[in-house]
Amino acid sequence: MARGEHRSITQPPTQSGRGSAITILLKKMSRTWPVFSFASADPEEAKEAMKTTMMMMVIALAVKTAVQAGEPQAQVIVFLQNSAVVPPRIFVPAEGMATRMFAGIGIHLVWRCGKLPAKGGSRFIGIKLMAHAPHAYDFSVLADALPYEGVHIRVFYERIASFDQKLQPVVLAHVMVHEITHILEGISRHSATGIMRAQWNTDDHRMMMRDPQPFAQEDVELIYLGLKAR
Ligand SMILES: [Zn+2]
Repeated sequence: MARGEHRSITQPPTQSGRGSAITILLKKMSRTWPVFSFASADPEEAKEAMKTTMMMMVIALAVKTAVQAGEPQAQVIVFLQNSAVVPPRIFVPAEGMATRMFAGIGIHLVWRCGKLPAKGGSRFIGIKLMAHAPHAYDFSVLADALPYEGVHIRVFYERIASFDQKLQPVVLAHVMVHEITHILEGISRHSATGIMRAQWNTDDHRMMMRDPQPFAQEDVELIYLGLKAR
């Protein structure tokens, strides 16, 4: 399926109290990222990996310094097309939370209402809030994104709406941040910690209400590398 390169999948809370989990269908990655490999026997490859790591350390330091100084490093413009007629009481706080989460790593999200323009800028991302997921999708699928295409995200609101009222804006914010991160990183991968974890459970949801999930350091670095490449 053309749009199915990547999906974030979650299950709504169940009667049995088993909670929800985001699981991911990872299709074959079309390119690799030589970030964490030092083990290569090829000296050229090892040199390349070392160069990338050095660059990431420089980026990490620059981001840390900029964030401490309260200076945004990059701007990303997100067009939110509300095809599911999601009420403002859900999507407005969700946008606010997502904005604060990205501001914490020096990225300024600018929200626009409506469809992504046909001729978009390199920092444009489109999120379509859809009422339902495609029929072929399991009910657990919350959203999908096309990291290699780098622009489009779809969120399936019926799944968000199955969460507790108070939790809905929080989950929507986290889903949007998770998918925007996939788009900005430009690769289909997950992290062991933070917002890019492949699985969330009910305890995570409870914690999200108090504190948003943080970005793992490698995600901050990959986002900035991805932004540089756009
Ligand atoms: Zn994901």
